[in-house]
Amino acid sequence: MRQVRKPRKVQDMSDCFYQILTGCLKEEGLRHRSVELDPAIWQEFLSDVPAVSAVAPERKPAAVTENVPTPSSAPSSSAPDVGPVTATSAPVAADGPEAALAALAEEVRVCRRCRLCEKRHLAVFGEGNPRAELMFIGEGPGADEDRTGRPFVGRAGQLLDKMIAAMTFAREEVYIANVVKCRPPGNRAPEPDEAAACIGYLKRQIELIRPKVIVSLGGVALSFLFKESAGISRMRGHWIDFNGIPVMPTFHPAFLLRQESAKRDAWSDLQQVMARLGRKRQR
Ligand code: SF4
Repeated sequence: MRQVRKPRKVQDMSDCFYQILTGCLKEEGLRHRSVELDPAIWQEFLSDVPAVSAVAPERKPAAVTENVPTPSSAPSSSAPDVGPVTATSAPVAADGPEAALAALAEEVRVCRRCRLCEKRHLAVFGEGNPRAELMFIGEGPGADEDRTGRPFVGRAGQLLDKMIAAMTFAREEVYIANVVKCRPPGNRAPEPDEAAACIGYLKRQIELIRPKVIVSLGGVALSFLFKESAGISRMRGHWIDFNGIPVMPTFHPAFLLRQESAKRDAWSDLQQVMARLGRKRQR
């Protein structure tokens, strides 16, 4: 068991914290050992992450083993093709989900099932461990994700990385995906028909990865994937079921950047997830 100690007083806590923590987690993870976090680190994280402009909410990005970003074909300006999501019906191979996920990622890369294909630069399939026990689901790509083809890579993504690390996971251990794979223009929320066109991809990802626990981030994921209309403020912290998989709804990192006071609730939610997965709580 290795204790990650609180860093010395730093001006830019975010970089210091993240570098130390991820370095230790990766090191210990390679040794298949667990890491006990100093609760002071988390407290510092809770209090020191700077607020972001409320005018320009940042969206979530992610990265993936099977999703090597490549430019999509030029989107047409005509009505999108809404044919069947073929890869979603392929069976899971006996040797694991990697090949099926790769095929699905390729399908997403050139998908034109909804109007969001028209303005995207890169579709963002998702990324992470195809056999992850923990999966995070956000809303949709933002500008940084659209540019890189990876989920949760902007400031909200950096906060998500810290949340994952605080849960004693490395980002590479979990899987991160979104409800819609292409960026809604202007960072708006996906329209219901866009989410309906895309949701089959996410459901297939869940089916293939079969995580032990899902953390849904924000109200959009909650409403479109889980058909939960009560709102994230009411539903967060309460387990719900998705085809036999326990789901913990919590606040989206972009919201937490704007509303620091909500971080304690989010941490409480994540601690429930840690307990469910047998990860050691911070004291
Ligand atoms: S958002 Fe989903 S359904 Fe729409 S074009 Fe992109 S991948 Fe296809």
